[in-house]
Amino acid sequence: MTAAWIGLGANLGDARSAFDAALSQLDAHPQISVLARSDLYQTAPVGQLAGNAFLNAVCRVETSLAPLELLDMLQSIEKQLGRQRGVQWGPRTLDLDLLFFGEQLIESPRLTVPHPGAWYRRFVLDPLIEIAPNWKHPLFQVSLFELRNCLQARPLQIVLTPHWSALCEASHDQIASLFPGIKLVAENSPCLTEDRATRSLWLRLLSDDWSATVAAHAKIPSQLTADLTASPGEPLEKVLDFLTALHDEPQRLDCDP
Ligand code: ATP
Ligand code: CA
Ligand code: CA
Repeated sequence: MTAAWIGLGANLGDARSAFDAALSQLDAHPQISVLARSDLYQTAPVGQLAGNAFLNAVCRVETSLAPLELLDMLQSIEKQLGRQRGVQWGPRTLDLDLLFFGEQLIESPRLTVPHPGAWYRRFVLDPLIEIAPNWKHPLFQVSLFELRNCLQARPLQIVLTPHWSALCEASHDQIASLFPGIKLVAENSPCLTEDRATRSLWLRLLSDDWSATVAAHAKIPSQLTADLTASPGEPLEKVLDFLTALHDEPQRLDCDP
């Protein structure tokens, strides 16, 4: 049996019912037991994305399925629930992501585990911390609690590498107004250089089109590396998605009906 974490997401609407139905279906599978589930978290993105509020939750399961078999199951549940209620709900009726599968690192055409967004998305980290604060991210070997704490620093300093700086120059003001908690700083900022060796957690993002270094202060003497693939032609949108996910605080909802 392997412990796996699954992220649930949906547009506002009947998301609670969708999550309940998804968890029931998972638990009904003979090779899957749902062992824990988080509360619901609501994230209302700011700025240009305002109006799209999302609900998220996570669950922990134990399974004897192989990772791809579990993914098949998640996708079949997404389809079933989507078909039943597709008319009323928006396009993201139900999204089920496999966040972790034990400590396995999987890189295949259909499946990347840990899920590439799991380390920086507050809407994933916050519910995960509710049920597994000390779980160490298998790639980074840093606890989810520590990762989230890094992202909570305000101002959260985002270091722009020269390439990304050029790309974003025109949007600098836009980013500043969209993300009041984020401070864009030059790469050679003295305070960051000082902290580099000892007190910072570094998250470096690289792609063919751009690269950005995210630094958050923490008492962790380590350097982390992660890849984020930007779609060609839409790098800025990818950056905004990324900043939104690490900046916006999810609100934990009271689960009483
Ligand atoms: P994101 O993965 O950034 O949250 P998304 O959930 O909107 O984006 P989908 O359209 O739901 O993306 O999924 C696209 C593909 O991602 C799926 O067809 C699936 O094969 C693949 N995939 C890769 N890794 C995972 C994973 N860990 N969990 C779920 N799907 C994955
Ligand atoms: Ca997703
Ligand atoms: Ca998905």
